[in-house]
Amino acid sequence: MALLVQKYGGTSVGSIERIQHVASKIMLAKSQGHDVVVVVSAMSGETDRLIRLAEALSTEPTPREYDMLVSTGEQVTMSLLAIALANHNCRARSYTGPQAGIITDNVHTKARIIEVKTETIRRDLAEGYVVVVAGFQGVNSQGDVTTLGRGGSDTTAVALAAALKADECQIYTDVDGVYTTDPRMIPEAQLLPQISFEEMLEMSSLGAKVLQMRSVELANKHNTPLRVLSTFNDGTGTLVTFEDKVMQRRLVSGIAFSREEAIISMTGVPNRAGIEGHILGLVSDAHIEIDMIAQNATDKDHTDFTFTVQRQDAPKTLKLIEAIASDLGAVAVKSNDKVAKLSLVGIGMRSHTGVASTMFKALGRVNINIQMITTSEIKISVIINEDCLEKGVRAVHEAFELHKSAAERHLAFMET
Ligand code: ADP
Ligand code: ASP
Ligand code: MG
Repeated sequence: MALLVQKYGGTSVGSIERIQHVASKIMLAKSQGHDVVVVVSAMSGETDRLIRLAEALSTEPTPREYDMLVSTGEQVTMSLLAIALANHNCRARSYTGPQAGIITDNVHTKARIIEVKTETIRRDLAEGYVVVVAGFQGVNSQGDVTTLGRGGSDTTAVALAAALKADECQIYTDVDGVYTTDPRMIPEAQLLPQISFEEMLEMSSLGAKVLQMRSVELANKHNTPLRVLSTFNDGTGTLVTFEDKVMQRRLVSGIAFSREEAIISMTGVPNRAGIEGHILGLVSDAHIEIDMIAQNATDKDHTDFTFTVQRQDAPKTLKLIEAIASDLGAVAVKSNDKVAKLSLVGIGMRSHTGVASTMFKALGRVNINIQMITTSEIKISVIINEDCLEKGVRAVHEAFELHKSAAERHLAFMET
């Protein structure tokens, strides 16, 4: 007998039939003797619909009210699921995030969980109930509802699993687990039976939305067994675990991508000590997050300064940079918000050379121009035109033989 925290995402609870199906999966786990805590997302499309309603009234909805609104999506599914369970004589109680004791900081729309008070859940489990908790939400010190950022139900599930010391946190979704890249873009992508926390963190932070990044961080920190698996197909999915427990070692594990990027550059900036700090300081004062940065001295006195931001921040960043450029007497400001970031992730990069050149050659062969590059110990990211993204992902996927099973790839690397 185990204590399981199961999270069902938006597609998994997207209709009455699917909620019935989820109820039957939970009852199966119960009948096997497990204690079950369930975390649900809003029905697919519902959170987007709620956000559109708020945006129809205001370009900048009050954060407190925005959270009150968007947290309602999960309240619908939690109670529907509890009703479905009760209808099959399975005792169940649903709770909102605040009722379930999910305490967060005060940062509306992207709050972080600081504490989980588990008394109510433990009491219900002891009495034999299935506990259903609304994902994506909590309560701050003022008693206001907060939300955890898009995809935040994953983090609710891991936080509960960590606090309850569950045997496993199971993230049920609409694909069979974590793949070498998004299987919706590249159908040849391979399911990864295991992936290290470190690689999963990179994949999530670089755009693979299968797990919210914060949920991976939390599971890593609390040593929580975390598994991604399908609501609709049988299988053991992907176990996210510690590097030394990953059985099949690969040079690279996967490719993540994000379309939500924009690139902005200022050319002919007078080059003097402290100029970068000055420009970036003004950008961060405006609460704009910068991702990649590159600088090129064009002659002794001038430099070009280029960086990327999230696409939604591009208009206000551009306005700000134009003002800074005219103050500094820079030559020109250019921007392109039709770019995407393609990233290759793998712990094998630490010990093997030639990964970057293989990646760049693969992109070159399909005529893709790289506009910016950043690297870290286990990842390489490039900025390319958005309309080349799929072609680029496919080319890199093939170059690293990610469409082959791990065993086949291992052989391929041993031979070269
Ligand atoms: P849920 O609603 O269950 O939370 P999400 O839409 O948030 O589901 O995440 C699952 C989706 O993540 C998949 O449908 C898939 O398109 C996408 N995805 C992106 N990269 C990957 C990857 N490497 N492996 C699996 N899925 C991925
Ligand atoms: N419903 C929220 C979202 O769409 C949270 C989640 O599904 O994880 O982002
Ligand atoms: Mg999700």
